[in-house]
Amino acid sequence: FNPAIASAANAPPISPAQTLQKDLLSRKRAVKDFHFGRTLGEGSYSTVVEVTEISTDRVYAAKILDKRHIIKEKKTKYVTIERNVLHKLNHPFIINLHYTFQDTRSLCKFNFFCLPFLFPPLQLYSLIDFIIDLAENGELLNFVRKYGGLSEKCTQFYLAEIVLAVEYMHKNNVVHRDLKPENILLGSDMHILVTDFGTAKVLDDSTDKSSDLRTNSFVGTAEYVSPELLLNKSSGKSSDIWALGCIAYQLLSGRPPFKGANEYQTFQKILHSEYEFPPHFSSAAKSLIEKILVLDPKARLGCGPRGIDDIKQHEFFNGIDWNTLPQQQPPPMQ
Ligand code: ATP
Repeated sequence: FNPAIASAANAPPISPAQTLQKDLLSRKRAVKDFHFGRTLGEGSYSTVVEVTEISTDRVYAAKILDKRHIIKEKKTKYVTIERNVLHKLNHPFIINLHYTFQDTRSLCKFNFFCLPFLFPPLQLYSLIDFIIDLAENGELLNFVRKYGGLSEKCTQFYLAEIVLAVEYMHKNNVVHRDLKPENILLGSDMHILVTDFGTAKVLDDSTDKSSDLRTNSFVGTAEYVSPELLLNKSSGKSSDIWALGCIAYQLLSGRPPFKGANEYQTFQKILHSEYEFPPHFSSAAKSLIEKILVLDPKARLGCGPRGIDDIKQHEFFNGIDWNTLPQQQPPPMQ
């Protein structure tokens, strides 16, 4: 007797409506399946537009890339990495990639670049679309700037969500390498969605099994770059942890801990661990940041044998219920 077969036999037959729904979900998508709406933002190599899937009325964001521009600027690798990593990851705090497609079309179909005088409507572009979750509330950075830093309660909550996202990435051998408040988006429910995996790195199993978790290319943003990347040109999971320390400081103070007049001066500050705490930081916040912003990655909190668990257990996170964060109501921003 096989209960699985028995229950399948007793299951009601699939209705034509359900079959249609299933077909729709598994079907490949193309540009004709979406209505393209307002522009949400522009990146160096992309335009992000709000889209509605015509058959379901679901709203997403489309990250649209001009293939010719990507090839000319030698950025193909980053587009492939972003797609592969997003396919691999599936977590409530990480942006979800729903569909990808490529086609040749006129940009004037959309309301961006749509000045027929400047961009002839008949000109065709080879475009790549990533259909991803819509982050209706934009970048965490905007809130940090607006309020000049967030309360300790708010920082505790949002930092905890970022910690969970990083824990999940690292468990899946993905190193983000460009964590910063600009790359932490907020959905309609004000929970985080980590984005921008173009410079991420997938560590292979052999790299992960040995204790050498390093990768060797220079990527990231000056203010969040780890000392080991500056000194040895190597970055791995420990560099994401360093960035977590910088983000913690920035959420509380409104500015990153290391910022010079130019990149060179920023790097010098990082290498000399030159930062100061504003007077309002609590002792728990100071302790967490001091233990993460340690120059030697081996001595950094979160980089030891217990990994990120050591960060989760720090007193700064007292009172956080790690298991129910996605279901919790985020505290008001400020
Ligand atoms: P650059 O490529 O220069 O580093 P970027 O990484 O910000 O810039 P994109 O990721 O293409 O480039 O994003 C461009 C803009 O669109 C940004 O302002 C970003 O906040 C916004 N954006 C990106 N993804 C989404 C999304 N899923 N929902 C809403 N807005 C988004």
